[in-house]
Amino acid sequence: MMMLTKKMIEIRGLLQTVGQSETLSLPSIVVIGSQSSGKSSVLEAIVGHEFLPKGSNMVTRRPIELTLVNTPDAHAEYGEFPALGLGKITDFGQIQRTLTDLNLAVPVQDCVSDDPIQLRIYSPNVPDLSLIDLPGYIQVTGRDQPIELKEKITELCEKYIRAPNVILAISAADVDLANSTALRASRKMDPRGERTIGVITKMDLVDAERGAALLSDKKYALRLGYVGVVCRAPTTSSPRLFNRGNGNITSAITKNENTYFSSHPEFGAESHLDVGTKNLKKKLMHVLEQTMAASLKTTSEAIQHELENATYEFKVQYNERPISAESYLAESLDAFKHSFRGFSEQFGRQQVRELLKHELDQQVLNLLAQRYWNRPFEDLSRPLPERDPLSGLMKADPEGEDEIWQIKLDSSSAALTKLGVGRLATSVVANALQTHIDRLISASRFSSHPFARQAITEASTSILKDLSYDISDELEICIKPYKYRIEVEDNEWAKGRQNVTNVLKDELKVCELAAKQLEEQMGGRKKVKDVSSFIDRVRSGQVVLEGDGVGGAGGFSSALLQKGREAVFLRDRVDVLKMRLLAVKSKQCASKKNKYHCPEVFLDAVADKLTTTADLFLDAELLSKFYYIFPRELDARLGRSLSQAEIDRFAREDPKIRRHLDVVRRKDLLEHVLREMDSLRQLEAREKRYGNKK
Ligand code: GDP
Repeated sequence: MMMLTKKMIEIRGLLQTVGQSETLSLPSIVVIGSQSSGKSSVLEAIVGHEFLPKGSNMVTRRPIELTLVNTPDAHAEYGEFPALGLGKITDFGQIQRTLTDLNLAVPVQDCVSDDPIQLRIYSPNVPDLSLIDLPGYIQVTGRDQPIELKEKITELCEKYIRAPNVILAISAADVDLANSTALRASRKMDPRGERTIGVITKMDLVDAERGAALLSDKKYALRLGYVGVVCRAPTTSSPRLFNRGNGNITSAITKNENTYFSSHPEFGAESHLDVGTKNLKKKLMHVLEQTMAASLKTTSEAIQHELENATYEFKVQYNERPISAESYLAESLDAFKHSFRGFSEQFGRQQVRELLKHELDQQVLNLLAQRYWNRPFEDLSRPLPERDPLSGLMKADPEGEDEIWQIKLDSSSAALTKLGVGRLATSVVANALQTHIDRLISASRFSSHPFARQAITEASTSILKDLSYDISDELEICIKPYKYRIEVEDNEWAKGRQNVTNVLKDELKVCELAAKQLEEQMGGRKKVKDVSSFIDRVRSGQVVLEGDGVGGAGGFSSALLQKGREAVFLRDRVDVLKMRLLAVKSKQCASKKNKYHCPEVFLDAVADKLTTTADLFLDAELLSKFYYIFPRELDARLGRSLSQAEIDRFAREDPKIRRHLDVVRRKDLLEHVLREMDSLRQLEAREKRYGNKK
C-alpha cells in the first residue's frame, strides 16, 4: 500500500517540473500554526532531525515544500535542494543554515514570498510524505515588522490550505483552543472539518485530564481527529533540544512521549485517544495516501487536458518535428562543418596567391613611392618634360646615373626581400581565414548563440595563432635565398611588366578618384587650382609664409590649405604615375637588360617570386593543417566536452528553439506522468479489491 504514496510523491515532483499549474498538482499536507505553537518541533520530530530555521525574527518567510523519501535499505540520511544543485547534504546543520539564508533573502518589505523552497529528505527513518511548512501566524506585529505582515501571512496560508490539501493545524495545549489561530484558519477553509488533522503540542504543560479533554474536542470536531504530542524532552542542560548535532532525535522523543503518556491513565488504550509522534506519522501517511488516491482521477484528467494542449501546439507550431538539445547542437555543428568544408574547397593556393600578391603589390608601390617617385618633387618648379617619359627621373641625375640607379634598385629589392615576408604573408592569410570563419559563423545557426560563437572563434584564433608562430619563421627561411641574389627570367620579366602595368593603372584610378572627391570638397576645379598654385609658390620659395600658417595664409583658411596640400600631392602622384606608365610600356622596359631603369617591373618580378614561394608553403603548412585541425577542435569544444547542462543552455539561447524544446519536454513529461498515473490507478484498484478482503 505504501508504494502508492511513494509513487505519487514521485509524480508530484515530476509535475512540479512541468510548471506551476494549480490544476496539475497532487495533494500535500500543509502545516499551519501560530508562532511558538511548536510547529517546528513537530516537523523536526517527524523528520528526526533539527533542520528548520530558528530565531525570533520571523525566520520562515517562504513556504518550504518538504518531500520525505523513505529509503528502507539505506543507512545514510541526507537532504537535497533540487533547485540549488548543491548535491546531497548529510549535515542537517547545513540544511538549517541554507534554509535560513534562503528565507532571509526575502526582503523585509516583501514580508513573505509565495515562491516555495523545495527540500527533499531521504532517510530510512522517515515515512513517504509530502509536507508544506508555512510561515507561522503572528499574534502581534513586531516593531520592525511591516503592518501588513499579518495579512500577508494569512493570505499565503489560505492559498495553500485549499482542497484537496490536508491541513495539519498545530495548537499548543497551554493555549485555549478557541484562541488557536491554526484551527480558526482551517475552520474557515474547511468548515466541516473534513480534511484537517488537529495536533495538540506541549501536552506535558497541562494536566492530563485537561489534555485528554482537548483531544476529544467537540466544538470543532475533526473527522480525522486530534493527536496529542510532546515534542520536547525535558532536559535541563539544553532546554530546547534533545541532543544537538546531527544525531537522530526520533527515539528520544518516542521514549519521552511513551513515559509521559503511559504514566497517565487518561491516555490509556480504553480512552481511544490518539497520542504520540509515532501515531501522528502513521496517521499522516494514511491520510495522505487516501487523499492522493482520491485525487488521482481528477489529476489524471487535468494532466490529460494539459497533454492535449501540448500535443496540439507541437503539431500546429512545430509540425511534430522532434527536437532535443543534443540533436539541435549536433545538427548545427554538422551544418557548420559542412559550410566550412565548402569554404575550404574554394579557398586554396590560388586564393592565397592572389591575397599575397595584392599585399606585395602594395608594398612595391610604397617602396617605389619612397625611393623613386619622390625624386621629381624635389624640383617641382621645373616643368616635367612630357615628351620624354623617362627624363623626369633621369635628368635629375645627369652624371654617373647608371651606377646610382643600380645601387637604388639593389637596395630596393633588398628592402622588399627583407621586409619580413614570412610574418607578413602568414598573418595576411591567417587574418583572411579568421575573417572567413567569422563570416561562416554569422551565416550559420550559431549566429544567435553567443556561447557557441565564442567557442568557435576561440577555436580558430587559437589554432591560427599556434600555427602562425612556427610557420612565419619557416617561411622566412624559405625565402632566404632571395635576399642574396635574384635572377629574373625573360618570361618572368614579361609577366612582371604586364602585371605592374595593371597595378599602376589601378593606382592611377584610385588617385584620380581621390583627387576628384577632393575637388568637390574644396569647391570646384578653379578653387583647387588657386590653392594649389599658392602652395607651389610657397614650396618654390616665391612666397614666404608668416608664422606657421595655422590661421590660414594667402587668403585661404588653414583647412583649405590642408586640403590643398592633399590635392597637390595627388596631382603630383597622378603625374608621376602617368609618366611611369609610359616608361613601363616603352620599348626600353621591354627587356630585362634595362632593369635598372625599370624598377617597377623588376620589383614586381621579385614580388612574384616571393609570392610563389609563400603561397606554396602556406598552402601546405597553414591551410592544410588548419583545415585538418579546425573541425576536430570544433568537435572537441562543442561536442564531447560539453555537459548536459551546457548543451541545454546552448540550445535554449535561441528563443525559438527554447519554445520548441519546452513543448517537446512538456509533452514527454506529461505522457510519462500519465502512464505512471494509469499504472497507479490500476494498482490502487487491485489493492482495493484484495486489501478489503484482508
Ligand atoms: P514554532 O514557533 O511554532 O515553530 O515553535 P517551536 O517548535 O520553535 O517551539 C516553541 C517553543 O516551544 C520552543 O521553546 C520549544 O522548545 C517549545 N516546545 C515545543 N514543543 C514542546 C512540547 O511538546 N513541550 C514543551 N514543554 N515545550 C515544547
